[in-house]
Amino acid sequence: MGMGMMININSEMDLETAELIATELGIDIELKAAESLEDELITEIETLEDTAESLVPRAPIVTFLGHVDHGKTSLLDYLIGINVVKGEAGGITQHIRAYNVEKDGRGVTFVDTPGHEAFTEMRARGANVTDIAVLVVAADDGIMPQTEEAISHAKAAEVPIVVALNKIDLEGVDANRVMTQLTEHGLTPSEWGGDVEIVKTSATTGEGMDELLETLLTVAELNEYSANPDRSALGVCLESEQHGDKGVVAKLVVQNGTLRVGDIIVCGPAHGRVRSLHDTLTGKPITEAGPSTPVSLTGLDTPPGAGDRFHVLKDISQAREIAGSREDESSRQSLSGITTKVSFDSFQDM
Ligand code: GDP
Ligand code: MG
Repeated sequence: MGMGMMININSEMDLETAELIATELGIDIELKAAESLEDELITEIETLEDTAESLVPRAPIVTFLGHVDHGKTSLLDYLIGINVVKGEAGGITQHIRAYNVEKDGRGVTFVDTPGHEAFTEMRARGANVTDIAVLVVAADDGIMPQTEEAISHAKAAEVPIVVALNKIDLEGVDANRVMTQLTEHGLTPSEWGGDVEIVKTSATTGEGMDELLETLLTVAELNEYSANPDRSALGVCLESEQHGDKGVVAKLVVQNGTLRVGDIIVCGPAHGRVRSLHDTLTGKPITEAGPSTPVSLTGLDTPPGAGDRFHVLKDISQAREIAGSREDESSRQSLSGITTKVSFDSFQDM
């Protein structure tokens, strides 16, 4: 007030004024910008380490990669068909499919990212949802350009690769020819002394499907994927849509913790209270979703993007503030043209 300012003890002042007053009083100060709520809370959640005792095994998250028409979607259809009660699948057509399948009480979560652009894009955004990549190679075609790309994406992601040598039912296919090609691409079959499991499959006859599941479960056991179901949930949005009657429907995968109806979440520029959770396969409502569970969720105010991470917060006003600051940030960026938007088109099934 002595400097002619109309302020009191509760007022905020800018750094320059603070510095000036400090100099006046002969006090040394260090200027430091306040951390944003986003940095503070989200970093805290992301870096919270789970104690060894809190960890339990979780289902591996498996992504199908490979050349178009080599059978990714058919393999997933077959796996779902033999493992869950038929006829319950909700009829909503989605671009990215994610399901949890159980075999002998052990779960595997499958993500059918239609094209590997989706895989790469999510990784580029820091959302590495995949634990194991299944490289689908049709036995009649062998390694094709997109197979090569898929191999390099999986290698870059540093995830184990299991090969499904598919369409093995076709007349006259030469598995050895494809295995030679795979070896040339650094994927030496275990039966040839390498470390890559190659499973001969047919999505048409079902040959090798049990073996494929078994192989994935074995890889999962070796890697001991684990998570802490007792912490608040975090994970990734796979895709979202604005529905007329339901509002925003987002498909998310919980990576750690347990997500519950009523939780306050922030996901990219979106926030809200979880209104409902649905099983992605049966469409049935569920009240909570643990680690590695894919869910359809309602309750967000705006559709988040593919690859946006989600976090559970304690306070709706904090969620609103963080989501709001991201929205401001993204509109600033799109004004200056730096943003690369993921469009639904890049997720069209290939
Ligand atoms: P994606 O593009 O990799 O998802 O391939 P799709 O699953 O759409 O399959 C492409 C075509 O191959 C479809 O006509 C399938 O019916 C067929 N197909 C997929 N798997 C097999 C298989 O194991 N054997 C045979 N004979 N056909 C298959
Ligand atoms: Mg497909």
